[in-house]
Amino acid sequence: MLWKGRRASSNVDDRRGISGGGVAAGGGIVGLIIFLLYNFLGGGGSGETPNLPQLLPGQNQTEMSAEEKAADDERAEFVKVVMAETEDVWNTIFSNMGDDYREPTLVLFRDGVQSACGSASAAMGPFYCPGDSKVYIDLSFYQDLQTRFNAPGDFAMAYVVAHEVGHHIQNLNGTAAKVNRLRQQLSETEFNKYSVKMELQADFLAGVWAHHAQKMKGILEPGDIEEALNAANAIGDDRLQKESQGRVVPDAFTHGTSAQRMFWFKKGYQSGDISQGDTFSANID
Ligand SMILES: [Zn+2]
Repeated sequence: MLWKGRRASSNVDDRRGISGGGVAAGGGIVGLIIFLLYNFLGGGGSGETPNLPQLLPGQNQTEMSAEEKAADDERAEFVKVVMAETEDVWNTIFSNMGDDYREPTLVLFRDGVQSACGSASAAMGPFYCPGDSKVYIDLSFYQDLQTRFNAPGDFAMAYVVAHEVGHHIQNLNGTAAKVNRLRQQLSETEFNKYSVKMELQADFLAGVWAHHAQKMKGILEPGDIEEALNAANAIGDDRLQKESQGRVVPDAFTHGTSAQRMFWFKKGYQSGDISQGDTFSANID
């Protein structure tokens, strides 16, 4: 992605130096994820409490060498530029519909963080909390994409950010509240289907963003879309489950399969048309 020298978002709360501090000061020792949380990798979606490492004062600060710090700062700058690009695109789309876009805040953290949705560890992956309209990212996920998920490239990370911003759009237009109401009414298996549709729509919205960011600013380099699709492929629930359990259990899917995630990102990217993103009516079984 052509990002150097571009505007960086100012809606940023950089807590990398103080990560975990909020958790410790709040007296909460065991990280607890409450329901209203849409994370990138699954685990929060179906309502179970994931196993989180204990966050103790002083335990969770990672010492970085000067080199690592410089690399971390560059990743921070990149993510801030991606945020700014999402602001430009969504401000335009909303204003074309006669609406105002309320920009979300990006929280950068390290190891652990406190949000309106509870405290979270970096192991959860990036997430969006509708309770405070903030996107939470530990930049170590950027490396995880390359090493753990074999999804390298800056646009893989841009897709992750755009996906979380997609959840913000769902929060603004009321989709998140509607789906959350169903959580009380449905069995976990039934609810998981809606959770998958939410996630696939966030992938679709990430694709819509890529479409317009390219049209408005020409941000894409050759191979960028492939990087995003490769990331969508690498982090589908079927793939992740196979890796962690050795088998696929469709009822437990909360984000969609690799093929579904790629399909909806591509659909958003090719059409750029938010009216085509009704994953709820689409038959995706
Ligand atoms: Zn998500």
